[in-house]
Amino acid sequence: MATHCPHCGWLDAEPYQTISRRLDRDSSQLVWTRCACGSLQLRRHQRGAEPVVVTRGRPTADLVAAPKASTA
Ligand SMILES: [Zn+2]
Repeated sequence: MATHCPHCGWLDAEPYQTISRRLDRDSSQLVWTRCACGSLQLRRHQRGAEPVVVTRGRPTADLVAAPKASTA
């Protein structure tokens, strides 16, 4: 299943930039990545399973240019 960044449409399967990796207690990998739009993602890579995007931040451009005005 292919998922995309809701902000810029970047393919989640191909992280734009990997920021850090660490092993979780259950030996899955937690990977922080940054999207092309500046949105941070936390992914969990479990052995033998597809990576799962646990959480996704807002694009940096949103925070700088239009904090809350976009839904009006
Ligand atoms: Zn994006």
